[in-house]
Amino acid sequence: MMVRSALRRLEVLARLYAPAWLLVPLIARLDGNARRVDAKATAMRRPERNYLRDKFCEKPFVDFEVANSADVFLCCPGHLPQAVGSAKRTNAEQLLNSELAVEIRRSMIDGTFTYCDAERCPAIREKRLPKRSQVTDPEMRAHIASATGIVTAPRHVRLSYDSTCNLYCPSCRKEKISLKGTAFDEAMRITDEVAIPVTRNARTLMMNGYGDVFSSRICRHMLSAINPTSFPNLKLIFITNGVLLTEQEWSKFPDIHGMVQSIRVSIDATTKEVYDKVRLGGDFQKLCCNLEFMAGLRRDGVIKEFMISMVVQRDNFRQMREFWEWGKLLGCDFVIFERLADWNTFEPKEFAARAVHLPQNPMKADYEAELSALVAAAASGGPTISGDLVKVG
Ligand code: SF4
Repeated sequence: MMVRSALRRLEVLARLYAPAWLLVPLIARLDGNARRVDAKATAMRRPERNYLRDKFCEKPFVDFEVANSADVFLCCPGHLPQAVGSAKRTNAEQLLNSELAVEIRRSMIDGTFTYCDAERCPAIREKRLPKRSQVTDPEMRAHIASATGIVTAPRHVRLSYDSTCNLYCPSCRKEKISLKGTAFDEAMRITDEVAIPVTRNARTLMMNGYGDVFSSRICRHMLSAINPTSFPNLKLIFITNGVLLTEQEWSKFPDIHGMVQSIRVSIDATTKEVYDKVRLGGDFQKLCCNLEFMAGLRRDGVIKEFMISMVVQRDNFRQMREFWEWGKLLGCDFVIFERLADWNTFEPKEFAARAVHLPQNPMKADYEAELSALVAAAASGGPTISGDLVKVG
């Protein structure tokens, strides 16, 4: 049951893992049992097998994601659901080249792609993978030539193993979560023995896929360890609810100021009234001040990308256009709209009532009209609309 539920969530993730620039929250809330690969995911049909025979994918050579369960994945778990191990009670070295990690990488070189879900992976579905003979990246060419499947470091790290958050939005969780006791100690150990070592030579670090960076002692510990000397190539990608990201908080981490590539703030509302319904535990007034501060960082070029996001649902869909206008005023690069996903936090009836994008929802027609108004407004210029809700031209 747990596995089925995790895989249902993966379906949502698969939609979310669109182009890399989208920088969607990589919410890997997999149950540990889902580490056993679903037979369906690996049963590749003949046309896909034929297509993949001479192809290559670099993902498992460059990606490293620690999901909420502490399971480690080498691609989006929605597309390659086989974990290569658990970050619990182990270290970076053992995980990076575990038996499964090596096996997965070798399957990219021998053209079998055994662990990939061909139905869910967009690169396979849209036939976007290069032939092995056409790969130009020298590091990947060396991997193809050696066929060992062994790597020294990932390029892109995503961390979601600390679910601590100052908010408890109904669309995400039923109660406030804050790691404590042995769970906290283990997460701290994972940070020191897995997260920090694998990130040292990485190019990007995304945190946090299932919690808030600035409410988490674990994430703050990680940030305190990061500086341009010890992490020379690293750029940071933050996903936050923004309530705790004050100017004062920012000033506590001076070493990372030149290292932040992007900040994405999940907001979901344009008024306090709606915000208080959908973002439980938040503080709209404080958030508005913090957004002005972040907009200043973007204007001054301190950060390279600034985005705000909305999970569209019954309580806020009439604010979609206004939300985009707010993003324009703030100087955002992207405004992200996402469908309400079913994470089992609502009773089925309640979810159906809130999910206005569903065909049977009585507000579907109104929602579509709001969506059209949003797309029309965005056609005149301003931040790019992104996310899984709206496909723009
Ligand atoms: S082929 Fe698709 S599922 Fe497989 S590693 Fe590449 S991106 Fe991931």
